[in-house]
Amino acid sequence: MAENSLPQLVLASHNKGKIREFRAVLGHQWHICPQEEWGITEVPETGSTFVENALIKARHASEQAGCAALADDSGLVVPALGGDPGLRSARYSGEGDEANNALLLENMAALEGADRRAFYIAVVVFLQHDRDPTPLIAEGRWHGHIAHTPRGSDGFGYDPLFIPAGGSQHAAELRPEDKNRVSHRAIAVTRLLDQLGE
Ligand code: IMP
Repeated sequence: MAENSLPQLVLASHNKGKIREFRAVLGHQWHICPQEEWGITEVPETGSTFVENALIKARHASEQAGCAALADDSGLVVPALGGDPGLRSARYSGEGDEANNALLLENMAALEGADRRAFYIAVVVFLQHDRDPTPLIAEGRWHGHIAHTPRGSDGFGYDPLFIPAGGSQHAAELRPEDKNRVSHRAIAVTRLLDQLGE
């Protein structure tokens, strides 16, 4: 048990946006410790699917920290681009979020009249310990489309370009608490919580 008496959970992520979002939805049940605080470095994401990469990350963090672990692998999928940025969402341009967004716009523009539909996907994996043979795995998808110009300053990643279905606001214009209620990660975490409760 952690000092504050909540059970300890290592979160296999360095991404500040994700750490904030996970704490917002799970922080009342778990003492969530980002793997950086344990000095755990990132493991190569060698899988060819989101679920494989989430498992690799969770197992590595659990092994290093010696406690339960939570990992997610997520990204933006644009079917018209053959699923890109997909598994390479974080390193699409190799130069960070702003350049990733610019490259996405450039690649969409190259496909004249392209179908701009897209979805975020998050796969969340929970392991009791590093050799847990029964990982809990949950997936969430958040559908929408890609705007022509970025808007908004909240969120992270592709949020300035992503317009969730059913509205006109870009994800980066949503209040964090509103995004956290409806996002791919929120859906995946809710499903994971259902499994944890079973
Ligand atoms: P991961 O850290 O390997 O899961 O890579 C996730 C990448 O997908 C991020 O760096 C972003 O580029 C993108 N991504 C995932 N979730 C979101 C989100 O909620 N908003 C914006 N971009 C996201």
